[in-house]
Amino acid sequence: RTYNFSAGPGVLPEPVIRQAQSDLWDIMGSGIGIAEQSHRGKVFDKVLADAEAACRKVANIPANYKVLFLTGGATSQNFMVPANLLPDDGVAAFLTSGYWAEKTWEESKFYSSKCYEAWDGRTVKHAYCPSDAEIKWGAKPVYVHMCSNNTIYGTQWRHADGSDRLPKIPDGSALVCDASSDIYSRPIDISKYGMIYAGAQKNIGIAGTTLAIIREDLLKPARKLPTMLRYETHAKDQSRHNTPPAFAIYMSGLVFQWILDQGGLAAMHKRNLEKAKIIYDALDASKFWKPHARPDSRSLMNITFKVNPEIKNAEALDEQFIKEALKNGMDQLKGHRSTGGMRASVYNAFPIEGCRALAQFMKEFEKKNG
Ligand SMILES: *Cc1c(COP(=O)(O)O)cnc(C)c1O
Repeated sequence: RTYNFSAGPGVLPEPVIRQAQSDLWDIMGSGIGIAEQSHRGKVFDKVLADAEAACRKVANIPANYKVLFLTGGATSQNFMVPANLLPDDGVAAFLTSGYWAEKTWEESKFYSSKCYEAWDGRTVKHAYCPSDAEIKWGAKPVYVHMCSNNTIYGTQWRHADGSDRLPKIPDGSALVCDASSDIYSRPIDISKYGMIYAGAQKNIGIAGTTLAIIREDLLKPARKLPTMLRYETHAKDQSRHNTPPAFAIYMSGLVFQWILDQGGLAAMHKRNLEKAKIIYDALDASKFWKPHARPDSRSLMNITFKVNPEIKNAEALDEQFIKEALKNGMDQLKGHRSTGGMRASVYNAFPIEGCRALAQFMKEFEKKNG
C-alpha cells in the first residue's frame, strides 16, 4: 500500500481493515454482514456496547460522562454546541487557534451576539497556540471552545514533552474541545473537560460518525430545541434515536480495540513522538526547508512545511516535491489550499516506516534541487 499522508480521512490500521473486510460479509457467524444488520438487533447491540466499552477503557472515561456517536461531522458541532449549551444571548469564549476553530467561532454568532474571541490566532498567522498570559477573558463564558490540534496549520496545544496542555479558563466555565485530529493520540484527562468531540475519520475510524464525550450536567439543553438537535435525546436513546451510522460506529469500535491492543494511549503517544521527530529532525537539519509551526506548538499529527521561500522558485519546488513524492510511493502531501506547501499527516495508524521514507526522500530532493 501507498504511504498515505492524508489529513483526513486518514490512514486506518491494517488489522482493522482486514477485520472489516470479513465482517462486511458475515459478522459473528450471523450470516449477515455488519452493514446489513438491524440497528436494534442483538448483533448491533453487541457492536455498540463493545465500541462504547473500548472507547471508555482507552481514556478511562469517568462514569458521569456520556459517550455519544453523532452524525454530521465535527462541523455540525459548530451549531450543536451553542444550541445546547448557550442560553439565549449567553456568552461563550473562543480560542481561535486555527482554521477549524475560526469556523466554530463564526458559527456561534448564529446563536448569540455576546460571544467573543479570547485569543485571535490570525494575529500570529496561526503559527502557535497561546500561553495563558496571551488569552484575554471578557465576560464570564458559559463555555470556552478550543481546538486541541490545528489540522491545517499543524499546531497543537502541548507541553515540551508532547503531552496535552490546556488553557487556564475562568472558574465555573466548561471547556469544550474539538479534538478531531488528535483524539486518542496521547493520554488525556477527560475530567478536565465539559465536552470533547471528534469527527472519527482522522484518528478513530471513518467518516460518518462524530464521537462526543460529554459531562452529564451539560446534556440538558439551555434553550428549546428540536428533538434531533438535543444531546439529551442521543444520550437517552444510546445514539440510536434514529438509524445510526452503524458501520462507522463499528469501525470506531475496532480502532479503539486496536489502540488497547497496541498498549493504549501511552504507547500511542510514544510512537507518535518518535514518528514526528523523524520528520521534524529532517526539517531542522537544513535551511532548505521552512516549517510553519513555532517549535513549542509543533503538532505530532500534522507536520506543515514548505521549501524555504527565500530559495529561487520555492513554490514550483513545492509542487515538484509533491509530484515526485507520489512517484516514490508517498501520497497526499499537498498542504491545505489556505496554507500551500506540504503537510504530512501521521496519525496513530500511520507507520513509522513512512516517516523514515519521507525524511530520506527530503534529503534526496534537497541534494538534487538545493
Ligand atoms: C477535519 C476537522 C474538522 C471537520 O470535520 P468534519 O467531520 O469533516 O466536519 C473539524 N475540526 C478539526 C480540528 C478537523 O481536523
